[in-house]
Amino acid sequence: MGSMRQTVDLRVDKPHSARMYDYLLGGKTHYPADRAAAVKATEGWPGLPTAARANRAFLHRAVRYLVREAGVRQFLDVGTGIPTSPNLHEVAQAENPSARIVYADNDPIVLTHARALLRSSPQGRTAYLDADLREPNTLLEDPQLAATLDLSEPVALTLIATVHFVPDHHDPFGAVATLMDTLPSGSYLLLSHATPDFSPEEINNAVAAYHAGGIEAQVRSYSGILPFFDGLHLLDPGLVVITDWHPETTPFGPPAKSDVSFYGGLARKP
Ligand code: SAH
Repeated sequence: MGSMRQTVDLRVDKPHSARMYDYLLGGKTHYPADRAAAVKATEGWPGLPTAARANRAFLHRAVRYLVREAGVRQFLDVGTGIPTSPNLHEVAQAENPSARIVYADNDPIVLTHARALLRSSPQGRTAYLDADLREPNTLLEDPQLAATLDLSEPVALTLIATVHFVPDHHDPFGAVATLMDTLPSGSYLLLSHATPDFSPEEINNAVAAYHAGGIEAQVRSYSGILPFFDGLHLLDPGLVVITDWHPETTPFGPPAKSDVSFYGGLARKP
């Protein structure tokens, strides 16, 4: 296998969304161009590092909920990013060591980092697909998917801070519907998404900073995000600001909605 592995150009001269995000989270996988772009985006929207942390905390709470309360033990995570620890499989396998997780991202740079970082528990399993949300059928046909997940049992599709990198002209709604159509009844969709609803000017500054770095992005309003859940049953408390989703009490209280500017929700396929 080793001899067949292609050398990936990490393009460290260009900012990369996942490395920018890792920098915002205080991770270790980023280069000067990523830091410069992240600083620019944060100048435009000072809430961005708060939002990044809140998004990770939402992922952790929701995955714990899915394993503990819903009994889910299979996950398909699309738009994995650089796996800042603890990542999804660590959270899920801490609850149930036999949990199985398929990670997918369309970025070869992410793949390079992920190979080193996504190690399963001995009882469970993880796989990593080089796959694109915009081509859901190709993603579903990847033999590693069927080898890792039992598609006759419920799967949680997790799209965490992913679909705002897929503008409407790529039909992200159709893509999510195709994935959910293939998963069996009792499966879940967990989604988080940046929104301009609370602080439009700042969010649009941040989007402009991503665009300036050559990264496609489209933030959406509440009513623009809701259709991702079409045909599914949104669980309590619905699509809400992520810090309001099964919140954990902290001594400091929740951050301002304008700093978080992310909606999230969990829905069940009937
Ligand atoms: N889900 C992680 C990382 C979010 S960063 C978390 O919340 O912590 C967004 C990730 O989505 C990046 O790694 C980017 O490469 C990936 N991404 C963007 N567009 C994608 C697409 N069309 N298909 C698959 N992954 C995509």
